[in-house]
Amino acid sequence: MQPYSLTVDKFLDHAAKWHPRSQVVTATGAGESSRTDYLALRAQAKRVSVALAERGTGLGDIVATLAWNTHEHLESWYGIMGLGAICHTLNPRLLPTQLAAMLGRSGARILILSADLQSLASEVLARGTAIEEVLLIDEGLSAGRIADDALKVGTLVDATREAAGEVEWGRFDEDAPCGLCFTSGTTGAPKGVTYTHRGNYLHTLRQLQADVAGLTGEDAILTMVPMFHANAWGLPFSVPAVGGKLVLPGRHADGATLARLIVEEQVTLGVGVPTVWLGLMDHLDQTGEDLPSLRRIMVGGAAMSPSLMERIERRGIRVQTTWGMTEISPLGTAMPPAAGARPPSASGRPAIGIDLMLADASGTALDQQRGAEGHLWVRGPSVVERYLGQAEPVTRDGWFDTGDLARIDESGILTITGRAKDLIKSGGEWINPAEIEAIIGAHPDVSQAAVIGREHAKWGERPVLLVELRDGAEIGDEALLDTLEGKVANWWRPDSVLRLANMPLAATGKIDKLRLRSEYGR
Ligand code: ADP
Repeated sequence: MQPYSLTVDKFLDHAAKWHPRSQVVTATGAGESSRTDYLALRAQAKRVSVALAERGTGLGDIVATLAWNTHEHLESWYGIMGLGAICHTLNPRLLPTQLAAMLGRSGARILILSADLQSLASEVLARGTAIEEVLLIDEGLSAGRIADDALKVGTLVDATREAAGEVEWGRFDEDAPCGLCFTSGTTGAPKGVTYTHRGNYLHTLRQLQADVAGLTGEDAILTMVPMFHANAWGLPFSVPAVGGKLVLPGRHADGATLARLIVEEQVTLGVGVPTVWLGLMDHLDQTGEDLPSLRRIMVGGAAMSPSLMERIERRGIRVQTTWGMTEISPLGTAMPPAAGARPPSASGRPAIGIDLMLADASGTALDQQRGAEGHLWVRGPSVVERYLGQAEPVTRDGWFDTGDLARIDESGILTITGRAKDLIKSGGEWINPAEIEAIIGAHPDVSQAAVIGREHAKWGERPVLLVELRDGAEIGDEALLDTLEGKVANWWRPDSVLRLANMPLAATGKIDKLRLRSEYGR
């Protein structure tokens, strides 16, 4: 057979050749969207490659992006990766010190930046990084221009207009790295994961299967998961790979913008962490609007709340649960879209190319792999081998410890039962917050629930429940805790309930347990 390198630039080549007029739409704000198609997007991505090459970027060099989900960001991704350089995506919701530390680790010299993030970038760059040039994605916003005489600042539009010549894509080995992303850091310090072309290519094929995302060229996919969160779960590769319509929210995540995009673009599938869809459901409840085109919402990244799932499915929109993490590119398992009745906590099966194993706390495989709870280990060609800057692999005998606790039923369906790092040790025994959260979260009055350990003189730690109720809900603390009766041991019952007007969310939209612990854990 032919030596045909599995490099990600081939997805956009394919889209431009076979689906040239399929659209990529970006919400630009104030009820407006900009649109391009795969043919134009590829041409512009090629110009980005030329502009970067003119600036000395080549194979293995790192180019950083600090940007929202826009077509310009996508053009930058392909422009960087097609060249053989590595796209380091940065999360604008992190602190300047964290971002400066990440840039320090990657050593990127060029930063591609959404124009409205200039003041954040100024604070990051003031801390000292290797960045020499900033290329602005100009969305018509000029707030807080970067003021640093040592830096070259221009726009991507100008840089690509001036770009002359041609650059050939994919002239390198498929094992070459193409992306760098740090974990969200919901429970620990963010760690850098380097993706390869081959890993992402195989991940894309896995994601496209009917029992996984099941994308087609007829779908319009609203990608709410940010491009800085685990490769937007691979959608920037898999949607062009089938020539589907890609709908991007820009920097907007409010319910009204989502509803508008879904109606205007006839979106069939929405993808994002569970909390993103709360705002959409609230908006629909308030306005009485309907979303007839939307058939399915794919969620992952955190446990799905039963009450939110019920709210979405009542509207005839199917909720598809998945499990994944940054370290595994990120898709691990998915509930088949056509599966019958299933609980919101079940996350489906792995598709070919990723394997699961349950182990005890020391990493020894459990004798019983079905029905028992264990520590979840994974392996496959899209699973991390070593974190950025580490010489030693993080794997053991080829397996990676996810840090999650899970159970797999007789039919192979995975349920995440908790996170090893989240467990609460009370009187020497373990309490699993995820189990309590799932029960409390099923109550119709509850919008979001989190359980953390609070220091306790006698027991070491005791659980505390933090809840955000739905608007107008009046349930009392005792009634809320009584829902646990008979479902968990008595000593698991949280000692107190704290009501929050707004549950704090971490940078990727998940409940921020680190913050909850620092504010309420003492
Ligand atoms: P971080 O680990 O910092 O949150 P990621 O965004 O990579 O970074 O998140 C991966 C983690 O998210 C998993 O290890 C798991 O704990 C959690 N997670 C993902 N999907 C699910 C799910 N379906 N149910 C419960 N937890 C999930």
